[in-house]
Amino acid sequence: MNLDGHVIRTRKIGIMGGTFDPIHYGHLLAAEETFFALGLDEVIFVPTGDPPHKRMKGVSLAEDRYTMTLLATLANPHFKLSRIEIDRKESSHTVDTLREMRHWYAPDSVQFFFITGLDAVLNITTWKEYKTLPTLCKIVAVNRPGYQTEKLGLLPDLLPEEFKGHVIPLETPLLSISSTEIRKRIESGKNIRYLVPELVERYIYKKGLYKRIGR
Ligand code: ATP
Ligand code: MG
Repeated sequence: MNLDGHVIRTRKIGIMGGTFDPIHYGHLLAAEETFFALGLDEVIFVPTGDPPHKRMKGVSLAEDRYTMTLLATLANPHFKLSRIEIDRKESSHTVDTLREMRHWYAPDSVQFFFITGLDAVLNITTWKEYKTLPTLCKIVAVNRPGYQTEKLGLLPDLLPEEFKGHVIPLETPLLSISSTEIRKRIESGKNIRYLVPELVERYIYKKGLYKRIGR
């Protein structure tokens, strides 16, 4: 309740971070399922910035990845998009992003739900200041083909103590799509229709993305 006696409802915001090189239906479905399952107010997509030595890492330019994410999320009224990591000069870390995003809202008026695939969650102890993450957000772990779904239920035991009570396992329909697979398909001249939204497909062809040999 605020000083005028009005009840303040905490906004529940999903955050979908990723390289999105390119964004595909696996990302969109994970975000949409989480939105409805947890009754979120919105989901903010946060494409990562350009990694240092980006040429060596072979990741597409942040502006291209941002534009594809914009095209993919445009038609969904509860999907939003942020440039927070793209506009940052230093390399992007989830913990810094969440800390900064909290300042966008009045204190205690927002709860963050960071949405990740099972592959990413199982790697979380390699992230910067990973023990701080549960103090900043709940972590939603969605299943992903190729990663044993039964691990979803076991997550509390697989993750460090700090994550207890802060991880929400969520079973979603499985889509066996990865950006790596899409890039490979383009390189070898295969079709990508129905793996990515049509506008993303057109953008990829228009800009000639993923055609370089040796990516
Ligand atoms: P790459 O193959 O380049 O690693 P990716 O398909 O894994 O790409 P990312 O941008 O790395 O996509 O993933 C962003 C987030 O989306 C991660 O948390 C990842 O686990 C999740 N994710 C990606 N693809 C799927 C999918 N098919 N189903 C569920 N979650 C997914
Ligand atoms: Mg990945």
